[in-house]
Formats: sequence, structure tokens, C-alpha cells
Amino acid sequence: MQRFLQYLRPLRLAILSVLMLVTVRVLADLYLPTLTADIVNNGIIPGNPGHILHVGIRMLSVAALSGAASIAASYQSARVAASFARVVREEVFTQVGDFSLAEFDNFGTTSLITRTTNDITQLQMVLLFGMRMIVTAPLMSIGGIFMAFSLDPTLSLIFVASLPVLIAIITLIARRGIPLFRRMQKKLDKLNLILREALTGIRVVRAFNRDTYERERFEEANLDYTTTAISVQRTMAIMRPVMMLIMNLTTIAIIWFGGLRIDRGFMQLGDLMAFIQYGTQIMFSLVMLSMMFVQIPRATASAHRVAEVLATVPKIHDGEAVAPRRPIKGYLEFRDVTFSYPGAERPALSNISFRAVPGQVTAIIGGTGSGKSTLTNLILRLYDIDEGSILLDGIDIRQLAQEDLRRSIGFVPQKAVLFGGSIADNILFGNENATNADLIWAAEVAQAAEFIEKMPSGYASLITQEGRNVSGGQKQRLAIARALARRPQIYILDDFFSALDFQTGARLRSALRQETKDATVIIIAQRVNTIMAADEIIVLDEGRMVGKGSHGELLATCRVYREIAASQLVGEEIA
Ligand code: ADP
Ligand code: MG
Repeated sequence: MQRFLQYLRPLRLAILSVLMLVTVRVLADLYLPTLTADIVNNGIIPGNPGHILHVGIRMLSVAALSGAASIAASYQSARVAASFARVVREEVFTQVGDFSLAEFDNFGTTSLITRTTNDITQLQMVLLFGMRMIVTAPLMSIGGIFMAFSLDPTLSLIFVASLPVLIAIITLIARRGIPLFRRMQKKLDKLNLILREALTGIRVVRAFNRDTYERERFEEANLDYTTTAISVQRTMAIMRPVMMLIMNLTTIAIIWFGGLRIDRGFMQLGDLMAFIQYGTQIMFSLVMLSMMFVQIPRATASAHRVAEVLATVPKIHDGEAVAPRRPIKGYLEFRDVTFSYPGAERPALSNISFRAVPGQVTAIIGGTGSGKSTLTNLILRLYDIDEGSILLDGIDIRQLAQEDLRRSIGFVPQKAVLFGGSIADNILFGNENATNADLIWAAEVAQAAEFIEKMPSGYASLITQEGRNVSGGQKQRLAIARALARRPQIYILDDFFSALDFQTGARLRSALRQETKDATVIIIAQRVNTIMAADEIIVLDEGRMVGKGSHGELLATCRVYREIAASQLVGEEIA
């Protein structure tokens, strides 16, 4: 909670002004009934048009003051709540930006999205109403009671009877309603989860004819949520009429006993009217307070979820003694590296040692799940290793600034990701200083220039959401153009050629060999023919390194490599 108070501190002046405006409004509203009493007692009953006009003008100006304060308070509180939400969102976003993939795995990407949007909106709403209620409810009810008491202490005894009943009912309903609200929130989360899976996996669901199953799963969760929502609403539905009933009964009691008192000459008609207004104000403020109490548990849950993100200390941060910046040459070395994913039973990689040097192509081959992509994650320091060390130019990468490390790497992920914007934006994503010539060069080397130029607006053509308007192979080539445009010292191409047809792949390989002559190139592959020519090939099997050497050497010495080769190449190609 303190964390959120800290975000409110810069807004304290604005909050103070909201509280003051609300106070002005409440005081004006509390003053109005006394004017009603005055106008009835001294203007209407004796028949004094001058007094009516006089007090009438005062009533109008007090009402105008109340209205103006109310509008200003709404405006100001909306601004405060929105800027609070903006600051918290910004904090969460920055925090998440520092997360390593281990923290992403831990929270789940979609949960992080919900926390940044929906949960923060909940906090915003509570702050918005809370700022107004925190003044209105106590001031209005205590002020109202005080005013009523000063008008007619005897008649005020009616409140002694009706207020406890009202409070008891509110407590009762809140006790029943709050757990229901909490349960409803959980069910809604569940429903969201199922919906998200069904929608993101819609192609698979269709292809495997799982529509019915998914629909049943959804319907079950939907029904579950609905039932809970109905019982919440049922509880809340009782609340309104019961409260109205009590309020109206109180008004009737006031009129009844007030009438008797007027009859006996203890009270004036105008005072009775003012009394009725105070009664309504007191009870309304209690009802509003009860609504607030219903909101609080929801917001507390949201606050917890947001605070959890903010309190997470990212495991990966720049080392204490960040090595001085100097041009990175690209000598990469793994020394006995072992790594397990958080919570995994066995290491995804164990005892990996190899060197990749500038001017050479190092290939990594192995079946699916052998740890190839994991290895690239480690070079990028998306995860920290458990044992051993990864050295860049002889310096442990944990001692480098993450920015320096990553700047030296051109990474093409296994699953190419594009962003909204033009093709040119996407290629220049990693290098904002790149020139137009760099752009064209990168696209040509990546064998992407041809299809880009065929697109209606060429390099300015827009990529639609997540790159749905380009094919998988085109996406891959744009991803490599993006890596090239950075002109890095190290290239990492994860399972790159699997999305390309044979001819394009071959052309791309020879263009890359030309253009990346001086760089350290790490190519990950599942097919032998894409890496046969590499200077060194590392064979991975279930997270272990089972072979290292050239194609020829491995064929002679490494059983796993021989098996992979035999299953993919025809006779004479092997030799
Ligand atoms: P490859 O790229 O060789 O197909 P990966 O490096 O992707 O293999 O995966 C190696 C192993 O690590 C697999 O058993 C996989 O299930 C596991 N793995 C990959 N990513 C994660 C992750 N984020 N969390 C937990 N386990 C993972
Ligand atoms: Mg992989």
C-alpha cells in the first residue's frame, strides 16, 4: 500500500483541492435546508413576497456554489485518478521492461497485460470515488445529524431508531456481498483464461474439430460466472428497495411526529421541511458509503496483483562493476555452462563448452527440444546461467551492461516477430541511425528486396497486426534484414532456414557468407545440409554436447550426427 501512497504524493495538492471542493459542496448542501425553513416560515406562511425574493436569491446562489464546487470536484478528481493510473501503468511497464524471461514465465504474459490495464483501472475507480466519499460520507451524515438536532432535538430521536436499522442492514448485505464479489472476480479470471485460449488457438481448435469441446468448456465457465453474478445481483437487488423503504418510513415518521409537534405549536412548517431534507441527506450518504465498501475488496485484490509486479526484483541486472565500454570484437566462449529453467526438473543445457570466433560460422544442430533455442537465450542473457560462464571478448557477460551486450548481437528468433509500422520501420528497428542505403543493403542480402518491391507501397507498406500480411518465409527474411541493418559483431540465426524454400535458402546462405565475413555467425539448424559448410558444428542431444567438429570429422566420430545426417541426406551427399 505504501507503494501506492508514494505515487499519490506528487498529486497531493490536487487531492487537497478535491477534498476542499467537496467540503464546500457538502457545506452548501447542508446550509440549503435552513434557507428552505426560512423561506417557508417567514416568507410563505406570513405571505411576504419581498422575503421570498430575498431568500430565494440566496438559495439560488448557494445552490449555484454547490453545483460549481461539485463540477469542479468531479473534474479535478477525474484528473487526479487518471494521472495516478498513468503513473502506476508507467511504473509497471518500466518494471516489466526490466524483467528477464524468467519473470515473464513466472507471471504469464497475459496476466501481465491484465494487471497493467484492468487492475490499474480498478484502482483508478476506487481512487476517483474514494476521494469524494471520504469527505462526503462522514461530513454529510455527522453534519446532517448535527443540523437536525439543532433544529429539533426531540424529533431527532427518530434517527436513533432508524439509523441503527439502516446500518445493520448495510453490514448484513456487505457481509454477504463482499465474498460473493470476490468469488465473482475469480470466476471472471477463469472465463477470460478459457476465452483467450480458445481465441488464440482458433486455427488449431477448428482443425482438430474441438469446437464442441471448447464451447462446452466455455459454457461451463460462463454458467459458473453467471450463477455467481446472479447471486451477487440478487443480494444487491434487495439492498436498494430495503434502503428506500427505511428512508421513506423515516420520512413518514418525521412528517407524522413533526405534524403532531406543529399542531402543538412546538415546531414550524419550514423546520419540518428542512428536517426531511436532512434525513434524506444522512441516509443517502450512508448508502453511498456502503457502495464504496463493496468496491474496496475488488480494488484490494487488484492492488495486490499490481503490487506483486512492482515488488518483483528482476533476477537479471547489470553487474556492479560494469566493464568499461569498448568496441566488442565478437569472441564468444561458453565455459562449462549449465542451465535449468525455473522449476524444471532437469537442466535444459549441461556442461556446454565451445568457442565462436569472428570470421567463422559456428553451427548448432540437434533435434527439437535439445536446447538450441535455450542456448541463444543464454547468449542474449535473457536468462542467467546456473553454473559456468559465458564470455564475450574474455569478459563474463554478467559484467557487461545488458545494453552493450545486446547491441553487439543481431538476433533472428526462431519465431520471427514483426511490429506494427512500415516494412522500413521493422528493418530499421534495431538501428535508428541506419541510412537508406543500409536499409536497401539489408533487404537485398536478406533476399527480401524482391518481394518488398513488389508490394504496393514498397518499403512503406504497412505490416498489419503481428505481420499477418506477410508469409512465414517473408517474415523470416524481414527478421534477418533487421539483424543485418544493425551491422552487429555477432549474428545468431535460430532455426532460420526451416521457413525458407531450398533455393531461397541457398541464395541467402551465399549472400550472408559474403556480407558477414568478419562477424561471428552462429547458425542453429535441424537440417544437416544447411550447415555442412560451417567451420565448426556443435551437436546437441537432450541438453548435452555430444559432438564438436567439422562435417567430415563429425561423420567419422559422432554417432548422433551420423544418424541425423543419414536420415536427411542421400548417399553421395554425405561424403
Ligand atoms: P530447441 O530449440 O532445441 O527445439 P529449446 O531450447 O526450445 O529446444 O528447449 C529445450 C528444453 O527446454 C525443452 O525441453 C523445453 O521444453 C524446455 N523449455 C524451453 N523453454 C522453456 C521455458 N520458457 N520454460 C521452461 N522450459 C522451457
Ligand atoms: Mg528452438
